[in-house]
Amino acid sequence: MASAPGSSVRVRFCPSPTGNPHVGLVRTALFNWAYARHRGGTFVFRIEDTDAARDSEESYGQLLDAMRWLGFDWDEGPAAFDSASGAGGGPHAPYRQSQRMDLYKDVAEKLLAAGHAYRCYCSQEELDTRREAARAAGKPSGYDGHCRDLSAARVEEYQAQGRTPIVRFRMPDETITFTDLVRGELTFTPENVPDYGIVRANGAPLYTLVNPVDDALMEITHVLRGEDLLSSTPRQIALYKALIELGIAKEIPSFGHLPYVMGEGNKKLSKRDPESSLNLYRERGFLPEGLLNYLSLLGWSLSADQDIFTMDEMVAAFDIADVNPNPARFDLKKCEAINADHIRLLDVKEFTERCRPWLRAPFAPWAPEDFDEAKWQRIAPHAQTRLKVLSEITDNVDFLFLAEPAVDEASWAKAMKEGSDALLATAREKLEAADWSSPEALKEAVLAAGEVHGLKLGKAQAPVRVAVTGRTVGLPLFESLEILGKDEALTRIDAALARLTA
Ligand code: GLU
Ligand code: ZN
Repeated sequence: MASAPGSSVRVRFCPSPTGNPHVGLVRTALFNWAYARHRGGTFVFRIEDTDAARDSEESYGQLLDAMRWLGFDWDEGPAAFDSASGAGGGPHAPYRQSQRMDLYKDVAEKLLAAGHAYRCYCSQEELDTRREAARAAGKPSGYDGHCRDLSAARVEEYQAQGRTPIVRFRMPDETITFTDLVRGELTFTPENVPDYGIVRANGAPLYTLVNPVDDALMEITHVLRGEDLLSSTPRQIALYKALIELGIAKEIPSFGHLPYVMGEGNKKLSKRDPESSLNLYRERGFLPEGLLNYLSLLGWSLSADQDIFTMDEMVAAFDIADVNPNPARFDLKKCEAINADHIRLLDVKEFTERCRPWLRAPFAPWAPEDFDEAKWQRIAPHAQTRLKVLSEITDNVDFLFLAEPAVDEASWAKAMKEGSDALLATAREKLEAADWSSPEALKEAVLAAGEVHGLKLGKAQAPVRVAVTGRTVGLPLFESLEILGKDEALTRIDAALARLTA
């Protein structure tokens, strides 16, 4: 870890613990993690919790849990990646900004002393009034530099009035150009980057200060983050130059801004959109590898003809220079299709285990003691090829563990037509006489019953399926019948017949 500056890659993922983790955040974490691993570098996990009003311990816990679930092993951070192995840490600990306040205070003092920052006494009303006037005159409406060079007398007067100043960073009067790793060369002129606040009037340091200060102190070499933060980059570069002058920073990191993720109706996917909540994807039974495979495609691709790949393959290939700057569209259908492919790629045993949460409360509608492990082991391989998300397993196998099938009324109406009672009666007879050790024989029985009533297999099996499983769609019928067993299957057909003839 102690290597010469510049020789090794250090990237960071530094979320604020507000609300639930969302997919945009996961994409940012993914690209940082993959880049660190690709370059054999260090992945730093830092918590930006300086906003006491919005940050929460619960959200912090969710972030740790999400990172572990996703498999983003970090090298330095507030806790260990493997929760069993105890506290985290690293050479730049602590990794929670709320525990680093003294450091920021110290840096702010140094910036003030060197003239890179100054105290601004303007009240909000004064700022607003002057902004309106600038707008009306067609001039840039950012902070106008009013307090840049206050005389000692002025300062005394403001203090006598009881004003409490904020600290502002003094932007140099120069054009700032940098080469974005995703977007190429970008230029910002001074009138578009006014002096900005770095410490609140109550002494609390702002994101604008703590984020670049920590990147400097933690010797971050590459800042990869969302495009929404692009406007803070010229300010941070100017701050970095001041930090280098003060001996606090070693070098300016490289920046790469990841493309926006668009949701429905071509609007930016917001963390408030329900479909962006990571918890939702976990509850629905996305595999972490499936979700990550899909999220990697939001701005990147492995190759033109390979959509499905493992995280190892991504790590081997990922370069930030290949990220596409154009907005990426979040397509839930494609996300599900990719997840389905990853479900199919699992070893059957692994699949059987990963479904467990959806076979128990609160997801499963059957009593725990009615779950039959042997039946589950037999049905699982038939289910594996049919699921988009693991939560679908519950409805697909509930007929095996419930005392009676959960009848979907729309399915009943669709399958039970005139003559269905006669058909079911014949099917029951043929099934009664069939060899129940072979799905093939059960199929022959239903086929034969259909022939008696002039129905093809598809039409003949629909009422049987609804009688036994409660639904028109599901796992292969004859395997399902075999696993359910003769007595139970015939009892269910009898119950359906009773309902039809009642
Ligand atoms: N805490 C910031 C955020 O969540 C991080 C910004 C950055 O990556 O520089 O937006
Ligand atoms: Zn001012």
